[in-house]
This record gives sequence, structure tokens and C-alpha cells, in this order.
Amino acid sequence: MEETLKILVVDDDEVDRIAIRSALTTAGVQMELSEVGDSHDAFSILSTTAYDCVFLDYRLPDRDGLNLIQQLHSSEIKVPLVVLTGQGDEQITLKLLEAGATDYLSKSRISPETLSQVLRSAIRIYRAEMQADLANQQIRESHEQLTCKNQELERQQQQIQMQNLKLLEASRLKSLFLATMSHELRTPMNAIIGFSQILLRPKFGQLTQQQTDMVERILNNGKHLLMLLNEVLDFSKLEEGGLDLKAEIFDVSKIINLVVSEMRSLAEAKNLSLLVQSDLQNPLVFNDPVRIKQILINLLSNAIKFTESGEIWVEVKELTANRVVIIVQDTGIGIAPRDFKHIFEAFRQVDQTITRKYPGTGLGLAIIDSLVRMMGGKIFLKSKLGVGSMFKIELPRQITLPTVAANTPASQLDNDGFVCPGKNPHHSSSQANTASR
Ligand code: ADP
Repeated sequence: MEETLKILVVDDDEVDRIAIRSALTTAGVQMELSEVGDSHDAFSILSTTAYDCVFLDYRLPDRDGLNLIQQLHSSEIKVPLVVLTGQGDEQITLKLLEAGATDYLSKSRISPETLSQVLRSAIRIYRAEMQADLANQQIRESHEQLTCKNQELERQQQQIQMQNLKLLEASRLKSLFLATMSHELRTPMNAIIGFSQILLRPKFGQLTQQQTDMVERILNNGKHLLMLLNEVLDFSKLEEGGLDLKAEIFDVSKIINLVVSEMRSLAEAKNLSLLVQSDLQNPLVFNDPVRIKQILINLLSNAIKFTESGEIWVEVKELTANRVVIIVQDTGIGIAPRDFKHIFEAFRQVDQTITRKYPGTGLGLAIIDSLVRMMGGKIFLKSKLGVGSMFKIELPRQITLPTVAANTPASQLDNDGFVCPGKNPHHSSSQANTASR
């Protein structure tokens, strides 16, 4: 069923009003028609009642149609408006449309067809305009919301940047503190070690057995403390990028044998066999011998520390002509896959409690990790709880100086199927679990 339209005719001429009414009736428009004779009454009725369309005579007794349209516009009264113009009003039509009229029709053209056509197209145009207005309004609102959200994001980003700066500063101060403290503590520690060694020499007087025991303890504890201090110092230097590799050509198997012989007494004290196998066609490498030694000492002391019975193997071999592999393997407590990634982080240990069985700073593997990255190498870890661990270090035969790769993960998938903890931290299998760094 066709909708009933509420139509208002604003015209002071009774004949014209009748013409419009009869044309609309003849056209079959279902309507509720109201009529007023001047713009004052038109404004009053339009202020209180909603109409589907208004036919407005341009020439009204009190003021012209343009004036009324402007008043309606400034009062935000919206309605489809068709202005009926007379002879000579043609030049005003553009202004009428600009002011807000929906359409215009010359009175001389009024007929049932034209009037109903103008009526329907005015209503259609008006509704389309309303929809466009609504969409514009929604766009404006969402634009405002987006602007607000953007502002909020910018504010949060600024806060994060501020916090980052604070964190960087705190981390810089922490590194500085660690470096200063460990450096300052090393001087008295060296004196303690030096004087204990002097006291143990017979030419400075014979000590009783009890005194010798005590001085030896001072010496051993001093050495241990110095080692811890050196770890902290190295770590803070590595963090600040202040540690340089001093590369030279040397025989890597000689260094390995030297470290193994230095550590043998520690292994023997725990009844562990310490086996070493060097399988190199060419034992010469270009690297920093002090740092290679440090890596080995760390890996070996961990292997000894975390193994209660069984064996420890150290192996060095060539992977290719340009790559050398050092392997340290034990039959110790092993490492669970969930800990593979964390143990390479600074100050991280599998057992983080203060009552833990195994002492240490938790810096050894973090230092090894950084050094191996600097050397352009990779670390692979293969371990199974209760069975043992294997740390494999792959290094270029000749390192490039300076190799600044501290932020580049050394971890990758190994040809042997070693798994990177970063890529698969929860990897577990019935076989020995593996990881690479
Ligand atoms: P630290 O030995 O001083 O605790 P590391 O960085 O050298 O620190 O090692 C971190 C942790 O990794 C150790 O606390 C231990 O939990 C684990 N870990 C390292 N090496 C081994 C190993 N060979 N066997 C078992 N666990 C190990």
C-alpha cells in the first residue's frame, strides 16, 4: 500500500492552492494536505510539525521564499522543499537551491504529472541527502574517535619511549656499577691471592700444617672469587660492547689440552673420567686464544659441576676446511627442554633458589653466547634430564675482526637436526633433546 504523505502548501493565492491540490489528487497521491498563506504561518507550522514535502510559493505577502528557506535552514528545520516560481523568477532558482531548496517548478508547468514527479523526486533527493548526512555524521564521529585513539596511542608511545629511556639508563648504570665494583674488588683480591701464594713459599718461613691448610683455603677461595669477579667484569664489558677480541694464529688443540690438564684435578676429585680427543687435520686457527680458553673453562667447569658420576668428553674436529667444532659432553644431570633458552640468559640458572645445590653466577653461558656470536659462530645444545648434556660450539677457522654480531641470534637449525630453543622452546622428545644458539 502506498504511504500517505504529509504535504504543506504555502501560497497566498487561493486559486494556485486549489490547482496544486487538484493536480496532486488527480495524480493519485495519497496525502494529508495542509495549507497556509504566508511565510510566518509556514515557519510556525514547520517548527512543530514534520512534513514529507512543502510546496512553497516564491512570492509571499510578508517576505519571499528565499528568506523563509534561509530562516528554516538557520533553525535547522529540514524538509523537502519545492519552490513554485512565477514568470521572471528564473534567475533566482540557483540561489534557492543553494539556500536549501530541494527543487523548483514554474507555476506555468503545474500539472498532475509534473507535480507528482517533482514531489517524488524531491522526497527521494531529500532522503538520499539525509542518508548522506547521516553517513557523513558517522564518518565524522569515527574520525573523531580515531583521532582520540591516535592521541591516546601517541601518549602511550611517548610513555613507553620514556620508560625505555629510563630502562636504558638503569641498565647502563647497572653495567657501570658491575664494571666498577668488579674492577675495584679485583685489586684487593689479587693482593690476597698474591700474598697467600708468598706465604706458601718455604723461603718465607715454614708454616705448620694447620696454617698451610688455612692459607691454601684463603688462596683457593680468593681464586674462586677472582674468577667470579672476572665473569661479572666480562659480562658488563660485553653488555656495553666494550670487549674486543685479540685474534692471533694458534694451535687450538694445544689450548684444549692445556685447559683439560688444568681442570683434570677437579674432575678427579669427583671421580669423573676426563677424556679428550683431537681430530684435526690442521690445528691452526685465527681467533682470540684467551677467549677460547675462557669458553672451554666455562663449559668444562659446568660439565664437572653438574656431573656426579661417569665421564666428560672434550672433542675438537673439523666440520669443513673453514669450520672447527669443539664439543664438551657429560653424563650429568641434564637440562630440561623448557630451560634450553633461559640458561643462556644472564644470571639465569635452572635452579634459581638460594638453597640451590650448585653454586655459580649464572653468567658463564651468557658470556659464552656473546663471545661465540662475536666470533661469528654458533652454539648447539643437546641434553636429556638424568642422562647428560652436550654443548657443541661451531666456529669459523678464521674470525673476522671486528665481528659485531651481539644482537644477531647465533641460533639456527643444524644439519644434524639440532633444534633452536628460540624457535621451539618447548621441544621435547624421548630422544635426547637438542637446541642450538
Ligand atoms: P652457572 O654455572 O654459574 O650457574 P652458567 O651460565 O654457566 O651459570 O649456566 C647456567 C645454568 O645452565 C646452570 O646454572 C645450570 O642450571 C645449567 N647448565 C649449564 N651447563 C650445564 C651442564 N653441563 N649440565 C647441566 N646443567 C647445566
